[in-house]
Amino acid sequence: RQEFPRPARTRRIAVANQKGGVGKTTSTVNVSAALASHGANVLVIDMDPQGNASTALGVPHGTKDPSVYDVLEGRLTIEQAKQQCPDIEQLEVVPASIELSGAELEVADLPNRNDLLREALDSFLEQSEKHYDYVLIDCPPSLGLLVINSMCAVTEMLIPIQAEYYALEGLGQLINTIGLVQDHYNPNLTVSTMLVTMYDRRTLLSREVFTEVKSHYPSIVLDTTIPRTVKISEAPSFGKTVISYDPRGMGAIAYGEAALEIARRSASVLAAIDSKRGD
Ligand code: ADP
Ligand code: MG
Repeated sequence: RQEFPRPARTRRIAVANQKGGVGKTTSTVNVSAALASHGANVLVIDMDPQGNASTALGVPHGTKDPSVYDVLEGRLTIEQAKQQCPDIEQLEVVPASIELSGAELEVADLPNRNDLLREALDSFLEQSEKHYDYVLIDCPPSLGLLVINSMCAVTEMLIPIQAEYYALEGLGQLINTIGLVQDHYNPNLTVSTMLVTMYDRRTLLSREVFTEVKSHYPSIVLDTTIPRTVKISEAPSFGKTVISYDPRGMGAIAYGEAALEIARRSASVLAAIDSKRGD
C-alpha cells in the first residue's frame, strides 16, 4: 500500500455547498476512506440529520445510538460518541441521527451556539491519545446553525461542484456566505479545495464547467475530477464507501487521486492558513 504524505498538523475540513445532491456526502466519505487507506488517521463528523455519511460508512445511527446530537447538547464527548468504521481501519465516525434536526432550535438561545462543535472538537483533539491527520465534516445543504457550527470548527472548506449547467450560479452565493462567516465568526477559514463531481468527460458541458471553475479558482480546484459511475452511487446501499466496495473501479481510483492531491497540498494549505492568522 502506498503511504500518502501526512500533514504536519491536523487538517480540519468542512465539506459544504448549500445545493443538495452535488456530492458532498459522497466526497466526504470517499476522500476520508482513501486518506485512511493510505496511512492517515481520519475522523468524519456527520452534521447532516439525514445521516447519509453514517450510512455509507456502515455505522449505526438510530435515535438510541450515540451521535453528534449528544455532542452538541453536551451529553457526550466526541471520544464517547465516535465509532470505528467497520470496513476501514484508521477511519472513525461521529454519526448523525434524525434528532439532529431539532438541535437548531434547542441550542438557539445559548450564547456559544455557533461554537458548540468547535469547542467539542478542540478539547477532543487536545485530549486524544491518538493523533488525527484529518477531520472531515459532512454538512447539510443549508446555511443554518449546523453549517455555521461546522464552519466555525474548521480552518478549511472543501466545496464539491457538480459538473452541470447551473454549477456556477450557487457558487458565488456560497463564497459570499463563507466571507460573512469569516468576517463575523471565524477569520481563519479558507476555501482550500474545490472538487468537480459527476464529471462526464464525453460531454462538452462537463469540460466547460471544469475549465470555467478552474479559471476562477486556479489554485483551489483539484485537477482530479470524479466521474459519474454506478458503483459510486450503489456503494452506500451496502453500507460501504466505493473504496471498499469496488476498490479497483474508476470511482475508487478517482477518489484515491483526489485524496492524494489533497494530501500533497497539505504544506501549502497549512502555510496559507498560518499567513492568514498572521494578518
Ligand atoms: P449531497 O451530499 O451534496 O446531497 P450526495 O453525495 O448525497 O450529495 O450525492 C447525491 C446523489 O448522487 C447520491 O445518490 C449519490 O449516490 C449520487 N452521486 C454522487 N456522486 C456520484 C458519482 N460520482 N457518480 C454517481 N452517482 C453519484
Ligand atoms: Mg449529503
